Amino acid sequence: MCGIIGYVGKENALPVLIEGLRRESYRGYDSSGVVVFGKDAQIVKAVGKLEALEEKLGSFRIQGGLGVGHVRWATHGGVTEENAHPHADCNGNIFVVHNGIIENYRILREKLEKRGHTFASQTDTEVLSHLIEDFFEGNLEDAVRKALQLVRGTYGLVVIAKQDPEKLVAARLSSPLVLATNTEGGYVASDPAALVSHSNKMVFLEDGEVAVITEHGFQVSDLFNVSKVKEAVELEWSVEEAQKGGYEHFMLKEIMEQSESILNSLRGRLVEKEGKAKLGGLDPVKDRLQNVDRLIISGMGTAYIAALVGEYMLEEHVGIPVEAENAAEFRYRKPIISDNTAFLAISQSGETADTLGALREAKEKGAFTLGIVNAVGATVSRETAAGVYNHAGPEIGVASTKAFTSQLVVLALLTLYLGRQRGMSLVTGQRIAKELGRIPELVRRILDQADRIAVLAEKYWKYSNFLYIGRKYNYPIALEGALKLKEISYTHAEGYGAGEMKHGPIALIDENFPTIAIVPSDSVYEKMISNIQEIKTRKGPVIAIATEGNTEIGDIADDVIYIPKTLEMLTPILAVIPLQLFAYFFGVAKGYDVDKPRNLAKSVTVE
Ligand code: GLU
Repeated sequence: MCGIIGYVGKENALPVLIEGLRRESYRGYDSSGVVVFGKDAQIVKAVGKLEALEEKLGSFRIQGGLGVGHVRWATHGGVTEENAHPHADCNGNIFVVHNGIIENYRILREKLEKRGHTFASQTDTEVLSHLIEDFFEGNLEDAVRKALQLVRGTYGLVVIAKQDPEKLVAARLSSPLVLATNTEGGYVASDPAALVSHSNKMVFLEDGEVAVITEHGFQVSDLFNVSKVKEAVELEWSVEEAQKGGYEHFMLKEIMEQSESILNSLRGRLVEKEGKAKLGGLDPVKDRLQNVDRLIISGMGTAYIAALVGEYMLEEHVGIPVEAENAAEFRYRKPIISDNTAFLAISQSGETADTLGALREAKEKGAFTLGIVNAVGATVSRETAAGVYNHAGPEIGVASTKAFTSQLVVLALLTLYLGRQRGMSLVTGQRIAKELGRIPELVRRILDQADRIAVLAEKYWKYSNFLYIGRKYNYPIALEGALKLKEISYTHAEGYGAGEMKHGPIALIDENFPTIAIVPSDSVYEKMISNIQEIKTRKGPVIAIATEGNTEIGDIADDVIYIPKTLEMLTPILAVIPLQLFAYFFGVAKGYDVDKPRNLAKSVTVE
């Protein structure tokens, strides 16, 4: 999920690696490392910023024309020097840098340990270097191919071996890698931004491909050594354009990658046949979870809105009382907590000051604490008894998008996990698991409508007030839609449960006050239609988010965005996506820098 760079050629590798890592560092990372082969293999790693690595390197400038570097965004194992990449085998022959997650690393590690391998880190990645070592008989790419046939998960990886020098071996499965060559040598990186200064002709690896890169060129084949013909793509991107993957803003890039980030949050966690969710982080507290009789879910901003959706999911399917709490309010109340109360903190960064404050307060009062966190090793994950990581990858856009949908997905997994512990039927479990597995594809179908949503934003951007309404599962999505519009376009927007309309907000409605109504075909559909009629009667323009196949809504609303049909509890994951796109295009139409909205910070570490 973070950054890889590899170089082989006439030049000294180290400056090439450092420059590459610097160009990948915009993604956010927690530690870094390089290995360069000169007379010997020299490996240097550091926790924190690249400057820390450079400072360590300062004392011994390594010379050599082959090397790999990595900036890590930890998923397995805390943020420590041992866990930073590259990872070596037992003999100091093989060195691996890896982006992604090796799902079956536990089993592989046990087997390798039984065979005498000793491990130096807690990462999933380290199984790769030992597994490759196990198969190594002098030819690195052969060993890599054999090893990868045993691996489940996602990887973009680059390997070098002292006993087969002068080449980089790279392989990809669901984690990007790109190659380039020039007169000075061969390059591989996880991000074109790292290579644009070396060449504008790039070769993108596909899933299942293995590349051997030397000073003079490269060859690509599959895991079974069947060669592949690859065509170079000419990219006239600046470094900055490359970092945004060709999108105008990080926010749009992150919205558009949600099909993938949701897949990453689900990876290895659904057992469809048994109708269950596998959440390794909760297994050690499985029994304790069984005794929980009340759950408080807490967060701030978008994470608090995710908590509200979680309240609906868990109460419906797990059957315990759940309360979503704004962390800043919770901590200053006198919350009543018993031994069997669980407190679940949700925070993308895991450093949100208010959420941490609430967590500490709950812990102090004896609550059993849990976390849903995107940044591995962050304070919330250290201070909770157990938890689930999002695995959504680093989020750069200040207004959260892919982290939010990932939080909803993890809450749905938690619902499945706890529900099946307490009487949810096999059939219901299977239905939820199956439908969750389809979500990435359904999300992709919504993202395909981005151009249409851009046209809608163009149509509406001159209005200065908006109302967002929804009911039940999509009441929180009304809040999230309004929040996104505020954050990105500085436009006044209010989110309400549609039932509240007649108790006040309807007084605002006239032809200059549009409403965005989230009205999927679910158990509260009829009620939503009545609310929309009330708005239309008062001449309010209405944009509806409705389910594909709904033939009546087009006659009632002014504009409709359709989302695919799914289970009611999963509709929020789909319904929020058009709202993110609408807010994005709206902000752009108003001419704002949506990646840096005024007055906001990505991680709010003060109260
Ligand atoms: N899963 C690996 C780790 O935690 C790779 C992390 C990354 O993609 O940066 O070390």
